[in-house]
Amino acid sequence: MFEHVPAYPGDPILSLNEDFQHDPRQNKVNLSIGIYFDDAGALPVMGAVREAESALLGSIGPRPYLPMTGHAPYRDAAQALVFGADSEARASGRIATLQTIGGSGALKVGADFLKRYFPNSQLWLSDPSWENHRVVFESAGITVHTYPYYDEHSGGLRFEQMLDRIKSLPPQSIVLLHACCHNPTGVDLDDAQWAELVPVLQQRKLIAFVDMAYQGFGAGLEEDAACIRLLVSSGVPLIVANSFSKNFSLYGERCGALSVVCESADEAKRVLGQLASRVRANYSNPPTHGARLVAGVLNAPALRASWEQELSTMRERILAMRKRIYDGLNGHVEERLLTRYLAQRGMFTYTGLTEIQVERLREEHAVYLLRSGRMCVAGLNERNVGYVASAIASVVK
Ligand code: PMP
Repeated sequence: MFEHVPAYPGDPILSLNEDFQHDPRQNKVNLSIGIYFDDAGALPVMGAVREAESALLGSIGPRPYLPMTGHAPYRDAAQALVFGADSEARASGRIATLQTIGGSGALKVGADFLKRYFPNSQLWLSDPSWENHRVVFESAGITVHTYPYYDEHSGGLRFEQMLDRIKSLPPQSIVLLHACCHNPTGVDLDDAQWAELVPVLQQRKLIAFVDMAYQGFGAGLEEDAACIRLLVSSGVPLIVANSFSKNFSLYGERCGALSVVCESADEAKRVLGQLASRVRANYSNPPTHGARLVAGVLNAPALRASWEQELSTMRERILAMRKRIYDGLNGHVEERLLTRYLAQRGMFTYTGLTEIQVERLREEHAVYLLRSGRMCVAGLNERNVGYVASAIASVVK
């Protein structure tokens, strides 16, 4: 019956991660998958999360289904974090926010919602973007295009070309933007560029779909969400997918949220209902545990302060590793391949290494990067950074 089913070639990032797990070499370094490891090379359990979990386990009771929209205290805390506790849109009840299965689930529920209510709209992604963006939106039946973004030569942004393309899109087109810590390039818009882009989105009547998977890993929790606050105050139709996978180190708990900013509380109520209907059609309702942990931390001032502190330490460790690899490569690679380690932000850097160089890094040195040359800087630590720098220096010679 199932003979005609072809083999799934696998997801390129997840497959590479599996290859890494099976690599027997002692000196192997995983810089492929987007996961934050601490300086000991371990996946951290954040102190505040551990405390919230202990408290939860002491009082855990029955586990009924959550509503389709998710755990109410989680939804509220997620909305406050993304839009700001004192957001006008939030106070007037015009943001529809629901709990989703990670940031990926938020993208899918958002895509299904858009397909239903904007059936003629097509989506534009940055070139390049996180590979799964295309997969998720196409699987919802949305046609996907790209806008110019990354400048291969300088390792920076092709902002003028990006803006020109966006200026030419038909009304109601959907533009997917990364709030901060762009995956895979590490290249973000600066404040002046956001200020230039936002009126274009507004005048052209475009729908902004902002993906924020790394809040807190760029310049800080508030700073990383500044573009969202700007979009809201400018009245751009806005959908936001956010994830707690990275900033809570809760990858497997699948904690995300989807928010749609509406014009009135009444509209938000209807939109929330239709988002819930998309959840019902996909997986009925979201899981409990991770949502309780995140809400437990964000809604308890002492735990929240501890979480913010630990997140700052993670952000600073990434910055320190950027400096260390820069120093290690200084004098060994050409300038344009060097400065990007300091200029690009967040977990990722597009190294500019060729596919062949990336392959040599893996085969000869057990250093794993994505084929595109994307490096997860958060996989570097004091013990491996010198080794990685000399491995890169040897393959670019
Ligand atoms: N968007 C981007 C840009 C990402 O990098 C990721 C995670 N790699 C996601 C969304 C999905 O996040 P989650 O793991 O919470 O589904």
